[in-house]
Amino acid sequence: MGENGHNKSIELPPSITVRELADSIQASPIEVIKTLMANGVMANINQQIDFDTAAIVAAEMGYDATLESQEAVGEEEIGEIPLWRRVIADENPEDLVYRPPIVTILGHVDHGKTTLLDAIRHTNVVEDEAGGITQHIGAYQVEHNNRLITFLDTPGHAAFTAMRARGAQGADIVVLVVAADDGVMPQTREAIAHAKAAQIPLIVALNKIDKPNADPERVNQQLAEIGLIPDEWDGDTIVVPISAKHRQGLDDLLEAILLVADNSNIRANPKGRVIGTVIEAEKDRSRGVMATLLIQNGTLNVGNIIVAGTAHGRLKAMFDHMGHQVIDAEPSAPVAVMGLNDVPVAGDLFQVVDSDKIAREITSERKNQKKSDAESQKSAVTLEQLFDKFQAGEVPELRLIIKADVQGSLEPIKSSLADLDTGDISVNILHAETGNIGKNDVMLAAASKAIVIGFNVEADSAAQRLADTESVSIRLYTIIYRLIEDIEKALKGMLEPETKETVIGHAEVRAIFKISKVGKVAGCYVLDGELRRNARVRVMRDGEEQFIGDMGSLKHIQDDVTEVRTGFECGLTVKGFNDFAEGDIVESFIVEEVPL
Ligand code: GDP
Repeated sequence: MGENGHNKSIELPPSITVRELADSIQASPIEVIKTLMANGVMANINQQIDFDTAAIVAAEMGYDATLESQEAVGEEEIGEIPLWRRVIADENPEDLVYRPPIVTILGHVDHGKTTLLDAIRHTNVVEDEAGGITQHIGAYQVEHNNRLITFLDTPGHAAFTAMRARGAQGADIVVLVVAADDGVMPQTREAIAHAKAAQIPLIVALNKIDKPNADPERVNQQLAEIGLIPDEWDGDTIVVPISAKHRQGLDDLLEAILLVADNSNIRANPKGRVIGTVIEAEKDRSRGVMATLLIQNGTLNVGNIIVAGTAHGRLKAMFDHMGHQVIDAEPSAPVAVMGLNDVPVAGDLFQVVDSDKIAREITSERKNQKKSDAESQKSAVTLEQLFDKFQAGEVPELRLIIKADVQGSLEPIKSSLADLDTGDISVNILHAETGNIGKNDVMLAAASKAIVIGFNVEADSAAQRLADTESVSIRLYTIIYRLIEDIEKALKGMLEPETKETVIGHAEVRAIFKISKVGKVAGCYVLDGELRRNARVRVMRDGEEQFIGDMGSLKHIQDDVTEVRTGFECGLTVKGFNDFAEGDIVESFIVEEVPL
């Protein structure tokens, strides 16, 4: 964003007509068309161009474009206020009752989000006589002072971002974990920005206070500097010192959550219209589609017919976070449900509808909409086309194929990767779906020079073998931030491929031999240093570079050799170069990467 500080910011949709783009950047359509033409794209005034292309045009006109928040779920969905909140707002106020707050835990990597979620779960999930074992369904509920609190258990930050992007944020309260020994970090700020934008109250959990180098005062200071004045300093931000590791301060934190909940009017009508958010979904071999739903208004019952994104079905069974079968679920309760005909996307809204017929109508309409969206994307001018035409050519792009265990992981990975896009360089997700890495994924990667990323999945042996023969790189992760970190590093590497060239020798071409099947072989005399078989070569003629490439073969007399030293003769070929002339100088050099 605005590295130079002068650009104006603008939000653009995934696809836009030339005319609309011109309007949004206060340029004439002719100017836009000219700019597109200068970049080799022929487009008329009514043609759709994709976001990336539009962003480039916008940049040339002094705008930093960001992708507009993604498509709303239903037709009534607008802006930042999710539909479920408006459903509740439409209820008769007399019918509204208290519902448990839904809490999401955000914070910088390694500040202790996972540890905190585990600590709360283990200390506070109520065990019943049936002795259920907690199931990972993407959310859980705990009891404190006889009141329930729902925690979203999906990979914090990222999941929340994905939900926000879909205009369906589920949380009522954000707990921001800040490590007392590390203080406010980039993702801390990001989390604050998200909470602010979504108008969700925030509590700070000042974690790791057990550490000898914990410095709570410093963190308070940092928080105050970015507008979160701690309550201790008479501000509005509750800061609760905790140690997630030693399970200290957890009660205080739960207390604070309930306090904020009491001040936030968190209500719903258990008898009202049933609506909520899909937390995660996957296809289970034995049970079919399993989806975790968070009820936000109304009461969901087994037997209800629901629509979730483009999926629908009659609920055959529901389970709570302890794996117990339940027949109904009230507002703020997370339940895993069986009975959908397809896998919805995390962040989709779900609603109960009156009949199967209505469910089919809604989903088929949504599917058509999706199809036509996809087609309009297809006919839009793609980034590749644009870059192909750039005279500068090579815009580096990292192509990825992503496989993950559940939709709930896929969404945050995709959105975090989208966040990495720097404008100079792009991440291109060619394909993303749930399931193990198979042969097809590797084939796609090989064909498109992509790498395959697996999250909580494995590559089957056929895929692994193919990857080896095709030199496709498969990277497996179990922690999202490590994945993101790696990609980020890869991107940085691509941005600044810091390399150092060292010339190791020169040879002069003294004769050219034509050898059938091999082509032209240059008979050389090594003038200085040495020529190495696996080093790079530069062919020079009259002081001008003719070609840079790899050596195809290097022979001394009849033998293949790995190097030839000063004063010896050799015969060599260079891959992709066949135009040797007598007197050419062959320079042998090595390229080393300078670690960042
Ligand atoms: P996340 O990336 O925010 O989910 O962080 P994790 O929960 O994975 O924690 C990162 C590291 O910090 C782990 O090694 C934890 O054991 C450690 N950690 C988390 N909470 C505490 C704490 O309260 N005290 C100390 N000393 N270490 C903690």
